[in-house]
Amino acid sequence: MARKTVRYTYRIRVSKRVDNALVREYGLCRAVWNHLVAESRNRHQQRRAFEHADLTTLYMDQKGILRDYFEFGYNEASRLLTMLRHTLVDESGRQWLAEGSAVTQQQMVRNFASARRRALMEQKNQIPTSRRHGLPKFKSQNTSLPSLNYSKDGFKLVEIDGRTRLKLAGGTLVSVVWSRRLPSVPKSVRVYKDSLGHWYASFVVILELVPMPGPPHAAIGIDWGVATTATTVHVDTVTGKRDFSDSYDLSHPQFGKAAAAELAAAQKRMARRRRPKDQPRTKGYARAQREAAKVYKRVANQRRDTGHKWARRVVAAHSKIAVEDFRPKFLAKTTMVKKSADAGIALLKNILIWQATIAGIDLRLVDPRYTTTDCADCDARTKHHLPLGQRTYTCESCGVSRSRDKNSAAVMVARAGFIPAGAEDVRPQKAAVPSRQSEPGIPRLVRERTQESCALTSTHEMSR
Ligand SMILES: [Zn+2]
Repeated sequence: MARKTVRYTYRIRVSKRVDNALVREYGLCRAVWNHLVAESRNRHQQRRAFEHADLTTLYMDQKGILRDYFEFGYNEASRLLTMLRHTLVDESGRQWLAEGSAVTQQQMVRNFASARRRALMEQKNQIPTSRRHGLPKFKSQNTSLPSLNYSKDGFKLVEIDGRTRLKLAGGTLVSVVWSRRLPSVPKSVRVYKDSLGHWYASFVVILELVPMPGPPHAAIGIDWGVATTATTVHVDTVTGKRDFSDSYDLSHPQFGKAAAAELAAAQKRMARRRRPKDQPRTKGYARAQREAAKVYKRVANQRRDTGHKWARRVVAAHSKIAVEDFRPKFLAKTTMVKKSADAGIALLKNILIWQATIAGIDLRLVDPRYTTTDCADCDARTKHHLPLGQRTYTCESCGVSRSRDKNSAAVMVARAGFIPAGAEDVRPQKAAVPSRQSEPGIPRLVRERTQESCALTSTHEMSR
């Protein structure tokens, strides 16, 4: 049986005392992180000085391995933590860092090392600065929310008075709101606080996947859009018969509208109460900010809920799903409305993939290029891209005319290769576009870039 490692998250109830204990525990972790950042920057500067003086920073260790004096990876950072726990003392000689749990501080070292490694790797691979992860920065008390990671040895689930509670390293006992059963014994847990002051415990568990495919001949094509979030076409894969009805369409979630007005009001209040940067924030500002955060959270929860309900309905009624491989364009210069719609679609796509995965359903991601210009009936391609305002697709070749989104959704099913050749209703389509899910490792086709083609022509000229 297939298995999947996932997170199960629960609200936790904490008393003021536990809240303080967890916040303090995180404060110690933050101290560790900031020491690591300082040491890393320090070593970087020393290396620069060496290089400036034309001195090598390399040496041979006892095993004959070439090493760098100023390297600061996981091993070095881990050694620094051990040293800090012993040497950081206050006036009374108290080793204050060692009062915190070693498990969570060790996890901080791991996070730091992997963040640094990723940043250096991206620098080396010359990823553009706008898309690159920066080197780890100092975490300030005001901007970083408490988040503690406990590995297997750092926590226990204990039975007290018939209730299962979470016991963290250091002896902190937490009540969990068990909104659903844990599917397996958890491997690790992250305890964190959100911007509204709510605490959560997020367990890493293993989920046994039970295949629950819908009717074997039922396929569905899904096209994403702004007005109608998901436009669908239901197809019988044996007869090729298509159902263009709206039964599985998901219209644009309207609850965003009322919330948007509320959010705008809160943001207006925030703007009015904003003080210059060097002055402390007012209580009124903090209140307005909390108000805005609440609205955000509520909308996000509603969206997720609607998404899961829709995805479960789609998954239960189909055994094959062809879905547009939508990629959000956050970097493009678009309006806020478009950005939020993009984020909503990206979320919905992930929810659908998740629901299909746990039900063991064949889901294929279809490259969206030309899905709006191709005819779902005869595979002809219109010469021009349809302007966004034109909602009807009319084929110049076979004369069929239908909703533009419905046409795209039907193209998805055909492209995914779900309709066998010779099915009654439609002519066979060109080769299916391989999806990343079913055929991992196959590079996706990328259109020739102008720069590359320039480079090609210039070398060609040189050889002549
Ligand atoms: Zn046509």
